[in-house]
Amino acid sequence: MTNAILLAAVLAACAILIWVVWKQQENQDDSSQEPEDARIPPLLRGINYLLSDEPDRALKELVHVAKLQTETAEVYLALGDMFRNKGEFGRAVRIHQNLLARPDLPEHLHMQAQLALAIDFQAGGLLGRALQQYKRVLDAQPGHIQALEGSLRIREQGREWEMAEEFLQRLDRVRGISSSLHHAYLLTEMARQKLAKHDEKKALALVQQAIECDPACAAAHMLLAEIDLRRNEAEAAIDSMRQLHAAAPYYLPLMIPMLLANQQAYDKFGQAFLMQYWQQTHDELLALGWIRAMHDERGADAARQLVQAMQFEPQSLPACLHLKALLGDDDALARASREWQKSQKNVACIECGVEFIDMRWQCPQCHEWGTMRPIKEKKKP
Ligand SMILES: [Zn+2]
Repeated sequence: MTNAILLAAVLAACAILIWVVWKQQENQDDSSQEPEDARIPPLLRGINYLLSDEPDRALKELVHVAKLQTETAEVYLALGDMFRNKGEFGRAVRIHQNLLARPDLPEHLHMQAQLALAIDFQAGGLLGRALQQYKRVLDAQPGHIQALEGSLRIREQGREWEMAEEFLQRLDRVRGISSSLHHAYLLTEMARQKLAKHDEKKALALVQQAIECDPACAAAHMLLAEIDLRRNEAEAAIDSMRQLHAAAPYYLPLMIPMLLANQQAYDKFGQAFLMQYWQQTHDELLALGWIRAMHDERGADAARQLVQAMQFEPQSLPACLHLKALLGDDDALARASREWQKSQKNVACIECGVEFIDMRWQCPQCHEWGTMRPIKEKKKP
């Protein structure tokens, strides 16, 4: 009985096998009549290799496809983008370079491949080559927005602010808008560079230009206050800090260490200025920034005296832990608070949501300026 079942199973398997082979033969005969069949086997093999995570073999097959058929160029461009998005920049570059080497590539696809190659270089960190590649695109289409944006980003990354400003002006002209806040931040960065080279006069002119361009640029008010303090013009510095507070109050704590470092300015005007804001707003971030700056500049006892003078009592758990980490005795809770503080993200970008420990003027993720804000309370999970 068992043998009979086995025999039936073997016969059934043979029948299926014969049917499959016959069907395949029939398909091959049919497809041989189609003019496009030459590209199907390598394309299928390419996709198969992709699915089995063998990108190099997939690439070889798909390069073959692209050589055979002009229409596959768009598929090929998409494939290059896919490799780039997976972080495989070398493969994306190879695909786009192969495509550009084809003499029959239509003009609009040629431009797309040039741009894609520029993005590959930029994503792979080859910024010089990316800039050259963007220039090729811009030589052909001076108003190409993506190429202008890419070039602007690279100039900003390289802290080449004058060049960045030129690209921003070109972008504004193409878009028919004025990115005044962005211009103001770039002018402030130029001023900061001049100040680092001790060219105070040019720094002052640039920072004033930035404030005229957009009074909401907090970095410009802060840098102006810094220049005022360097010149020992304490009253002017306090006035700049007032402007900073009006433009963006959450940046005021960044200014305090600089103010404390100038003892004369702090004792004469700074202390009263900060106390006035503290009494008006009871802003915990201002209080903590001030206490921390005092601790770093004049020591723990001076910081404790400041806590008393302010009658500061933390109202939130994060504020309690920050204060404990700063001024607590060397007990278990203070040690735990210090550990907590090291990993604590204090600011977040309002555009893209990325979080960081320290305040910064430009978001490293979405590249917007002036979009970082303190995280007052963590979102509930
Ligand atoms: Zn962002």
